Amino acid sequence: MLDALGRNIRYLRISVTDRCNLRCRYCMPAEGVAWVDHTAILTYEQVVRLTGLFAALGVDKVRLTGGEPLVRRGLDRLVAGIKAVAGIKGVYLTTNGLLLAGQLPGLLAAGLDGVNLSLDTLDRSQYASLTRRDELPRALEGLEAALAAPGLRVKVNCVPCGENDRQLVPLAALARDRALSVRFIELMPIGLGSALPRRTEEEVLTMLEQAFGPALPCSQEGDGGPGRYVTFPGFQGKVGFISAVSHQFCQSCNRVRLTAAGFLKTCLQYDCGVDLKALLDAGADNGALTAAIRRAIAQKPEGHHFGQAPTRRDEGRNMNQIGG
Ligand code: SAM
Ligand code: SF4
Repeated sequence: MLDALGRNIRYLRISVTDRCNLRCRYCMPAEGVAWVDHTAILTYEQVVRLTGLFAALGVDKVRLTGGEPLVRRGLDRLVAGIKAVAGIKGVYLTTNGLLLAGQLPGLLAAGLDGVNLSLDTLDRSQYASLTRRDELPRALEGLEAALAAPGLRVKVNCVPCGENDRQLVPLAALARDRALSVRFIELMPIGLGSALPRRTEEEVLTMLEQAFGPALPCSQEGDGGPGRYVTFPGFQGKVGFISAVSHQFCQSCNRVRLTAAGFLKTCLQYDCGVDLKALLDAGADNGALTAAIRRAIAQKPEGHHFGQAPTRRDEGRNMNQIGG
């Protein structure tokens, strides 16, 4: 459906849990957070029902995220349920990869279309420092499993955050050696993300050009997403940039987010939207739920205001509660 500014909302990001098996510095505090109780989380049946309503309004792409989505049991059941919703063309997963190798067969059988794997460094001790867990081998095992799965679209997501400056070139080299996209996601000043240094697209591109030569234009993804892609001589895959701060893309934003607790968020930076879980718990029928979704999307904010004065409606959640 179109929002008030004529943006076509086709992409729903669903967080299935706020829990995680890592503690990335820009996302979660070392001690973790008070987990949302199981009873306050949408059931898979509720998620599938809501996805059907979004699909009827024009959503055709779903991404499952978290927290770490694979820590929630039976995610393949949810993938299969969403794949069966009329109008949904693709179901994707964003994961840190630790549990991926074991769960991939079930996810593939359920029809998963692609995986974005978050990896900020290939250096084991730096990974342990950035994520506060010594789990790089398991993340790489997950990446290898994804790359070995026929037909699965695989992307690596890296957030440059200062500490990993010297790892950006080795990470980009994954796209030289393997047929995958490596994307650099600008650190957003949300929650703990405000505490680390941001590296802009231009800064990262300069580092990559020094290592690989001049960036070459290449085909863009064609999914209406905000990624801007280049490649380098001899590369099999692409390198992408998602630069919400330095290259704001709100004017073409096509997405909304559903938190694990059932709140429909219409903008990453603002605490605005509608509590669909409360409506479900109150017994709302599909007509009432659809009307609430329509109202919330119609009021989707024009854009974020990172770097400007805070407002009363700024997001107070950390990224593990939002889903990235
Ligand atoms: N646990 C999964 C993972 O890490 O892929 C899914 C959830 S995580 C919140 C989704 C994405 O958000 C990850 O790629 C993570 O690096 C990114 N992220 C978290 N905090 C961020 C921030 N402040 N700015 C930009 N990206 C952030
Ligand atoms: Fe967990 Fe993902 Fe946040 Fe890291 S970025 S703490 S893996 S939710």
